[in-house]
Amino acid sequence: MSSEQTGSKPVEVACPKCKEVQIVYLPLEQMPKCPVCNGAMIIKEVLTEGKSY
Ligand SMILES: [Zn+2]
Repeated sequence: MSSEQTGSKPVEVACPKCKEVQIVYLPLEQMPKCPVCNGAMIIKEVLTEGKSY
């Protein structure tokens, strides 16, 4: 999966229930689901360029 497409940027999504965190890339086709509780995850933070994780 390439992250070099123009306009794509990484965002951190988190599960409000169990605090599971994942990094996904915009634009999202759909919101990711938590792998732990299978609930809907929410966007926690938009990661900017130059920020390592
Ligand atoms: Zn969860």
